Amino acid sequence: MNLVLFGPPAAGKGTQARRLVEERGLVQLSTGDMLRAAIASGSDLGARVKSIMNSGALVSDDIVIELIRDQLDAAERAGGAIFDGFPRTIAQAQALDSMLLDCGSKIDRVIRLRVEDDGLMDRIARRFAEAGRADDNPASFKVRLEHYNEQTAPLLPYYAQQGKLVEVDGMGDVQAVAAEIDAVLETVAA
Ligand code: AMP
Repeated sequence: MNLVLFGPPAAGKGTQARRLVEERGLVQLSTGDMLRAAIASGSDLGARVKSIMNSGALVSDDIVIELIRDQLDAAERAGGAIFDGFPRTIAQAQALDSMLLDCGSKIDRVIRLRVEDDGLMDRIARRFAEAGRADDNPASFKVRLEHYNEQTAPLLPYYAQQGKLVEVDGMGDVQAVAAEIDAVLETVAA
């Protein structure tokens, strides 16, 4: 099963993806985590993307598509992936569809965590206190939200047209959101 967890920054995608990894053995493919690991390792890629990420802008489609391509076979062998923070543009979504098709696979569901913008800044402040992410500051967050609205939100009609989009209330506590997601996943297994 392949799922896309969809929503603005701090919607709770990572939290839910990690839970699904533990409970269902799927592989979490978070391009944000991969890019942060590249920065932490001091690689060339990390050096190229560091300032872009810290500003809140998107790194290039080519970079993130290659990161995903490298992991896709292993994810398919494990039974599928939870895409967290990818795709973020139409070009990425098209590339993902085509890469999965090459493996004889597909996206099963796109779960949109619906959250109100007003609540997000509080979540970001809390996450900064807990995790210290460089881009969890008000200026970068504003840029990230703009990119989400301009480049990522257009994926909603893209996936709706494919009949794959499901909406979940992301404003509840972690358990309530988890229960809604699990109910959606029941419909995939059926
Ligand atoms: P995230 O952890 O998903 O919030 O991603 C953190 C940052 O990494 C984003 O603000 C972007 O700079 C970069 N990034 C992560 N995933 C992507 C993607 N799919 N496309 C472009 N940039 C990305």
